[in-house]
Amino acid sequence: MLAHEPGVWQPFAGGTDLMVLLEAGKLSHTSYVNIWDLPELRGIEVSSEHVSMGALTTYTEVQSHPILREEFSMLCRAAQETGGLAIQNRGTLGGNIVNASPAADSPPALLAYDAEIELVSINGNRRVPYQSFHTGYKQTVMRADELLSRVHLPRTTREATQYYRKVGTRKAQAISKVCFAGLARTKDGTVDDIRLALGSIAPVPFRCLKTESVLRGAKLDENNFEKAKLELSREISPIDDIRSTKNYRLTVSVNLLADFLSKLA
Ligand SMILES: Cc1cc2nc3c(=O)[nH]c(=O)nc-3n(C[C@H](O)[C@H](O)[C@H](O)COP(=O)(O)OP(=O)(O)OC[C@H]3O[C@@H](n4cnc5c(N)ncnc54)[C@H](O)[C@@H]3O)c2cc1C
Repeated sequence: MLAHEPGVWQPFAGGTDLMVLLEAGKLSHTSYVNIWDLPELRGIEVSSEHVSMGALTTYTEVQSHPILREEFSMLCRAAQETGGLAIQNRGTLGGNIVNASPAADSPPALLAYDAEIELVSINGNRRVPYQSFHTGYKQTVMRADELLSRVHLPRTTREATQYYRKVGTRKAQAISKVCFAGLARTKDGTVDDIRLALGSIAPVPFRCLKTESVLRGAKLDENNFEKAKLELSREISPIDDIRSTKNYRLTVSVNLLADFLSKLA
């Protein structure tokens, strides 16, 4: 159906984003394909190199998977802080990614993990680095005849420190004002590798490549922390909107970086 009438049919997974739009009278489509029962989009598979999660993996399933809990704590934390229990039982990772809200909570973790997105159509499968999946506000590289089928996470986190913080108005059922994910490996007091990502501060989930490059190879000392904080405040340019202000988002982002770095040190 997606292939024969691209753009006419819209996939419907957990419906937790779509139902809100329906209630608000904002749904542009009238034809939906229920993908909830497609077994190919389900299941969490583990190989020596990767963890591969079906697009229909729910937040509850993320939180209860032993390997994800052990190696991908940021994703588990994001799942734990997404909505309430009903949303966690029904909302899917695939829906969160394709819905493409810049304020979504799993994308910063997926960016920091260097996740890969697998897309499927009747012409076959293709893989896209998650970092290049979002092309603009609510825009992605996914075509109308494609489904997101799986999310692949490289199992490279075992020696790394992971840090995830969602900052909202309250502790549950809140949309993020800022969401921070940081992953780093250190060696002899020096940053060996670091990946930093933020949500709610740009039109797309944002990987802070410039700040990372200031820190990569740097000694874990106050001087370098100050340089990194300065670079982050130059690299991001959040906006004022209904949920927060530019200044608040900027200050919180820099504070979260400082907190992460102090924990690394
Ligand atoms: C009360 C409430 C609280 C919430 N709290 C949070 C929160 O704290 N953090 C957060 O990030 N989000 C939150 N959300 C948003 C929502 O729950 C998540 O984005 C969820 O992951 C969406 O998944 P879904 O399966 O329900 O998506 P759906 O609503 O089914 O679909 C969302 C979009 O993705 C498309 N889609 C879904 N799956 C696929 C696929 N496999 N291939 C191609 N296209 C697909 C659909 O066509 C649609 O455009 C909340 C929502 C509600 C109602």
